[in-house]
Amino acid sequence: MTTNSQPSRPVDTSKAHPARVYDWLLGGKDNYPVDEAVGEMLPPEARDAARQNRQFMHRAAAWLATQGVDQFLDIGTGIPTEPNLHQIVQDIVPSAKVVYADNDPIVLRHAEALLVSRPGGVTDYIQADVRDPEAIVRHARHVLDFDRPIALSLIALMHFITDEQDAHGIVRALVGTLPPGSYLILSHAASDLFPELAELVVAQYAKGGIQLAFRPRGEVERFFDGLDLVPPGLVTATHWFTSTPATEPEDGGIYAGVARIR
Ligand code: SAH
Repeated sequence: MTTNSQPSRPVDTSKAHPARVYDWLLGGKDNYPVDEAVGEMLPPEARDAARQNRQFMHRAAAWLATQGVDQFLDIGTGIPTEPNLHQIVQDIVPSAKVVYADNDPIVLRHAEALLVSRPGGVTDYIQADVRDPEAIVRHARHVLDFDRPIALSLIALMHFITDEQDAHGIVRALVGTLPPGSYLILSHAASDLFPELAELVVAQYAKGGIQLAFRPRGEVERFFDGLDLVPPGLVTATHWFTSTPATEPEDGGIYAGVARIR
């Protein structure tokens, strides 16, 4: 079953959007010249980082499904790129329920076409902003059982949210709604691993009108305060794996971690 009650909003092709720049970085076709222009200005490492980040999502989601987690709340979903999170987890647990949320109208457009659930499973999509966590949780409660473990995934999302917008408070609020045994999956662009590249990326996105808040390790670690990071802890995206080694074991500029909620 797939549910979706959102009205379509127009897509603004006059300025770059994070979801479409990321789609361009992944080699997708669902972007516009304004997005490509930002992508073209970025160093080639940005494409590697996007791919490494996406592959972290694949491994972390699959691992959680094998742990028996069958409910997922994925905020900052992005334009569908196969395999999507629900395809990964429903291959392992066909009845898994996945609620997706993104604030970009173009993601909604594609969600209608692509986020088609397997029979027995459920996918649902809400167009919403992570800066309004209550609205997302209110919606998700219609689909997910908040008395059973839920995996909350915030993958390459929180570096779009500044400290002024209370990035850490938002994550704390979301995590606070989840019962014990739930998980937080989070990846985040680093400001301190390849500082010159990071500065260049932030500057080029800013030229395209997109504000980024890349963070150093300590600030990314703070998103996991009070939670139990599962091995291997907070590492670069390519180093997060349990049994299946990453296909590209090189180091990149994305921190990634999965933590259990007590
Ligand atoms: N999670 C996916 C996509 C990452 S790209 C992946 O890792 O593969 C970042 C996504 O976050 C984009 O789709 C963008 O539209 C979304 N996003 C950015 N700011 C957001 C906000 N304030 N609220 C919700 N989604 C947001």
